[in-house]
Order: sequence, then structure tokens, then C-alpha cells
Amino acid sequence: MANRVLVISPDPDDVRTLRQALGSASDGPFIVENASTLASGLRRIEQGGVDAILLDLTLPDSRGLAGFDQVHAVARHTPVMTLCALGEEQDASEAVQRGAQGWLSKGYFDNNLVPQSLRNVIERMKVEQKLYAVQARAQITLNSIGDAVISVDMHGRVDYLNIAAELMTGWKRDEAKGRRISEILVMVDGDGGAPVVNPVEAVLRDGQVEGLAGEVVMADRHGKCRRIEDSAAPIFDWDGLLVGAVMVFRDVSDTVALTTKMKHLAQHDFLTGLPNRVLLNDRITQATVSAKRSNTCPALLFLDLDKFKHINDSLGHAIGDHLLQAVAGRLLDCVRSSDTVSRHGGDEFVVLLADERRPQDAALAAEKILIAISTPFLLDGHQLHTSTSIGISVFPLDGLDAAALLKNADTAMYHAKERGRNAYQFFRHDMNARAVERQLIESNLRLALERSEFTLHYQPKLDLESETITGVEALLRWNHPEWGLVPPERFIHIAEECGLVIPLGRWVLREACTQAVRWRDSGIAPVSIAVNVSAMEFRHRDYFDHALAIFKATGADPVWLQLELTESVLMRDVAASAGLLAKFKAMGVQIAVDDFGTGYSSLSYLNQFPIDVLKIDQSFVRAIDGSAERNGAIVSAVIGMGRSLHQRVIAEGIENAVQLAFLKLHGCGEGQGYFFSKPVDADRMRAMLHAGG
Ligand code: C2E
Ligand code: MG
Ligand code: MG
Repeated sequence: MANRVLVISPDPDDVRTLRQALGSASDGPFIVENASTLASGLRRIEQGGVDAILLDLTLPDSRGLAGFDQVHAVARHTPVMTLCALGEEQDASEAVQRGAQGWLSKGYFDNNLVPQSLRNVIERMKVEQKLYAVQARAQITLNSIGDAVISVDMHGRVDYLNIAAELMTGWKRDEAKGRRISEILVMVDGDGGAPVVNPVEAVLRDGQVEGLAGEVVMADRHGKCRRIEDSAAPIFDWDGLLVGAVMVFRDVSDTVALTTKMKHLAQHDFLTGLPNRVLLNDRITQATVSAKRSNTCPALLFLDLDKFKHINDSLGHAIGDHLLQAVAGRLLDCVRSSDTVSRHGGDEFVVLLADERRPQDAALAAEKILIAISTPFLLDGHQLHTSTSIGISVFPLDGLDAAALLKNADTAMYHAKERGRNAYQFFRHDMNARAVERQLIESNLRLALERSEFTLHYQPKLDLESETITGVEALLRWNHPEWGLVPPERFIHIAEECGLVIPLGRWVLREACTQAVRWRDSGIAPVSIAVNVSAMEFRHRDYFDHALAIFKATGADPVWLQLELTESVLMRDVAASAGLLAKFKAMGVQIAVDDFGTGYSSLSYLNQFPIDVLKIDQSFVRAIDGSAERNGAIVSAVIGMGRSLHQRVIAEGIENAVQLAFLKLHGCGEGQGYFFSKPVDADRMRAMLHAGG
């Protein structure tokens, strides 16, 4: 489209010359309009559509720069060139200062440069307009974003701040302009508060983009600090020369606070605020790494509160929680600040003693902890007594990494518990062997029931005077396909711990009853069969009903059955035991106390149970060697006691004639032992019963 030029000039000659020059321009003609006065020119401009203005500074209604100013005011975005007579160059040059694009000298209008320069100024104006739009857009963008932007010149002096930068630094753009960036943006290290060199300086030095370095804190003009994340980039000019830098930064205080909080939550126990497993693992790893350098032997104390479950169940979880918190507090009091107390879950805590010099130091710490925890706690009006069992593992002997040290300390803790609680125990490598065997037995036990690998052997009990059989004791045997016969001592306690003793005990009772019926059916007079009952079986709520069902199913008469219970089983819950025994007793089942004399039971309690038989433990019988009367003192005392309580007394483990003679002499009625017979299988027992009966 042709460009439209408005010539404001009263001189017809000039106008004609320009018309000619512009109308015949080789690269396309201009449309030329004329206004001979300023007033008519201004009116025409206001109508719009003018691409360029040629303005004579000498007009009938205006003279000099005043005319230009008026034209420029209404046509701010239209290029204006003045037409300047000889001697008017001063004004023309001033007009350029005020916004004119240049001037044309009168007398040279027929020059073919006229259309060219006019076209140039029009094009330049269009470019400037576009540039303006781009700049405006950049300006708005910079002021709308949340990130702060500061730019500096080659000397590190601020030449621009966006609104976010003004807000964050506390400096207004005009005040900041020309000041050094280090004055506007004071930066210190997030960790130590040491001054940090502004990345802009590095950019100005190296001409390369700088990312943020570590955690940086900036202080604003009023000293308020915030964490920032920043980066800086160089600015190059047309020629690729470095002329300044732009720095962009944002306030990350909230993000950092949130991240810190999340990190804390991920690494700490919610209830006690102590480090959790995750953090503990880190600390153990750190401790083992530095142990190699500093020649220390870090130790782990694995703690489990004794009877915590009982407190939790009886007093409620709120009190249980308070207790855990109080325990955490006491543990912290027992160790140094360089040590780590962590909660491992439930009522388990792990203490890492980071820089012990000798393993004995761990023992001292453990003793301190035992005392601290066994001191009663006063919580919510309750006085609570607890204690803890501690297992100790020491680096590097007991493990080279966190996992091994923890596992071994845990194993040692179980041994401490077995030893009777409120005790500590160092890890020993043979504990692992035992743990492995235990594991092996447990997994095999599960299969053994399905595969019918169990069988019962029977050992006769005899009347010591007549040496006739008074009954038999059923003793469990595990015939493992690879290991052969496994004695009950190696698996009963494991079966008890993993709960398998319940189905196992039922199998034993059923098998013993079935056997009694078989013997009777084979023509043998009914014989008393004693069955051993473990603590867990006896405590199980269905025990009695199950026994009833078995009597019914097998057709065995309850009066044939004798239950052997140890003192500790009876004493655990005296009232419940007495009730249950009474029910069995009412059906005619006999009750024997096994291993009598080893359980420290109170005789007055024992008196409350409907007991028929006391079985003197083998260890007392073994002590009888005929050399001194006092070696059999306990045996004779038990015999005397049984007689006065009207209970039968059976001596277990009679192995020789000396023991037999002693027992007979002191009036022991019955006995059992290798001297008469080892436990034998059902067939051999039947043969013995047949002969004896
Ligand atoms: P216990 O009830 O005290 O059984 C007596 C143990 O002494 C038996 O060992 C028996 O073989 C052994 N014995 C008998 N006479 C002599 C002797 O003259 N000298 C020596 N040195 N030992 C003798 P066994 O069969 O290995 O049983 C060990 C323990 O395992 C039993 O002690 C009992 O507590 C438990 N047990 C056995 N069978 C069962 C069962 O079916 N259920 C439960 N819960 N426990 C059982
Ligand atoms: Mg027994
Ligand atoms: Mg016994």
C-alpha cells in the first residue's frame, strides 16, 4: 500500500517539487497531500491515515519550533521531518532533539534521496513501534512474575529492578539505580551466616550463567532475612560484548521450612520425637565410617521394655504413650549428646553410643539405663513399674554394617529377656547359630504335624514295693525324616513360642486317649496315662472343651487320664488354674505336679489345688548317691510333705539300685526311670503291660 505523506507548507513551489519527487519514486510512489497552514495540517492529522509528515517550520500561523511541538503532540507515533531553509538548521536540529526524525534542506527536494530517506524514517518508526510493544510486554511480564529480577551494568551497578525485586530488597528502582548490587542485595550463607559473593560478580567475570550455590539467605534493606534461590545470566550487546548481568531470585523460605519439616517427620518418631529407624541407620553408618578413622568402637543397645504390653492393655494406650515418652526422656538423660537415642517401633528403643573406646563402656551405659528405667514412673496419677532388657552389639566384632549390628543386638536382647528381664547381654556369635537352629526347627515343626512325624513313647511308673506298673507317662517324640528322633526339649519351647504347641498338644491328648482305648480293647486292664501339658495349652480358653471332645471322640474314660503340670504353669494365675483343675477333677481326671521342687512355688498356694500326685524332679533323685544322707534330704522332705498332704509321691529318673533303696527306705510309693525302663513305643509298652498286668 502506498504511503501517504502530508506536506505542511505554504510554499507552492516546494510542494510541487516534493510531489514530483515523491510521486515518481522508483520503489513505489507516495500519495502526497498538502496543508498550507498549521491549523489545517493539524486537522488533517487528526483525521488519521497519515504515514509521515513533512513540516515547514515557517507557516502563516506558526513560526519555528512551536509548530513542530504541536504537530508532534498530535502525531506522536508518526514520523515528522522538518523542511528547513538555509539558516534554519539550528531549529531543525533542535526539532530532532524533541522527536523529529530528521530534516530536508530546501533547494534539494528534487534529489532522489528524498523518497529514500522518507521511506527509511517510516520503516524505522514501524520497527520502533514493534520494539516498543516487545518492551512493553517484557516490562509487564517482569512486573507480574513472582521472581525478583535485577539487572546490572558491566560495573555491577544496578540498572533495573522489577516489582518483586523492589518488594524483596526494600529498594525502589529509582533509589537503587546506579548503586552496587552488593549494597542492594546482601547475601549470607544459609548454614553459617558467612558472607556470600553475589553470583552476578561471577557472571560479570566469566560471562557464564551461574546457578544458585547451596542455601543462601538474603537480608533486605531493613535487615529482614529470607532464604532465596537465585541464578544469574550475562547480557551481551550486538557485538557479543558483555555489558551486564541479570539476576533472578525467589523467596524459598516457605518451601525450605516445609522441606525441613517433612525431612524431620520422615526421620523422627511422631510420638517421642526421637530419631526413627531411617535416621538411626544413617547415624550408625556415619559412626562406623568415622570409627575406622578415630579408632572407636560404636555400640548399639537394643532395648525392649518388659511387660509394656501389659501396661498398655490394662491402663490404656494414652498411658502407654506417656510411658514411652517418659522412657525416651530418661534414655536421653543417660547418654551423651553425641549419642543417638531412637525409637525402633512399639516398645523398642535403640541407643547408638557413637564414640565408645572400649566395649566395657557400653556395659556401663547399659547399667545406667537399667537403673533409670526400673525407677518407678509417676504418670497421670499412676505409679508404673517397668524394666527393660538390653542386647548389645559392638562394631566391628559383632557386625560391619547397621543391619548386622541391629540384628545381633536384637538377638542379644532376646537372650537378656530369657535370662529374666531387667538385664543386659552382649551379643555372642553362637547366639546366631541358635537363632538359625530355632528358625529351622520352627519351619520344620509346621510341616511335621501335616506329615505325621510325631509319635508317642511310653514310660512305665511302678509301685516301688511290688514293682508292678501303676501307669505310664506319654512322652512326645518327633521322628524327623532327616534329623532322626528329635527330643522334646529341643522343640517344645519353640512350639510354645510360635503357638504350634496348641495343635501339637491336642494331637498328643487324642493319641494318648486312642492308645488307652486300643490297649483296653486288646484285653489289658485299663491303665493310667499321664500327659504333659505346657503353659500355653493350659491357658488356652478352649482347653477344657477340647479335652471333653477328645474323650467323647475316642471313647476314653477321663479317669484313665493324668495331667502333668509344672509348678510355674499352675502358679501363673492361681485362681484360673484352680478353677480349671476343679473341672477336670470333677470328671475324674488326675492331676500331677511335674518336676516338683524346682519351681519355688509357695506351698500355701499349692495347697489350694486339687493335686493327686507330686513328681519329685530327677535332679533331686540324681543327687542321691548313697555317700551322704543329706544328698537325699530334699527327696525325703518332699516324701514327707506328700504324705502329710495325702498326695502320692512319684520319684522321677531312678537310674540305679542305690537311689531305689533310698527312696524305698524313706517311704516313696512310686517311681519311674531308666532303672526300670526307658520310654518305649506303644507295642513294647503293650507287651510290658501284658506281662505286668
Ligand atoms: P518330664 O515330663 O519331666 O519327662 C521326663 C523326662 O525324663 C523324659 O524325657 C524321660 O525320657 C526322661 N527320663 C525318664 N527316666 C529317666 C532316667 O532314669 N534318667 C534320665 N536321665 N532321664 C529319664 P523326655 O521324653 O526327653 O521329655 C523331656 C520333657 O519334655 C518332659 O519332661 C516334658 O516336660 C516334655 N514333654 C515330653 N512330652 C511332652 C508332651 O507331649 N507335651 C509337652 N507339653 N511336653 C512334653
Ligand atoms: Mg512329665
Ligand atoms: Mg519331670
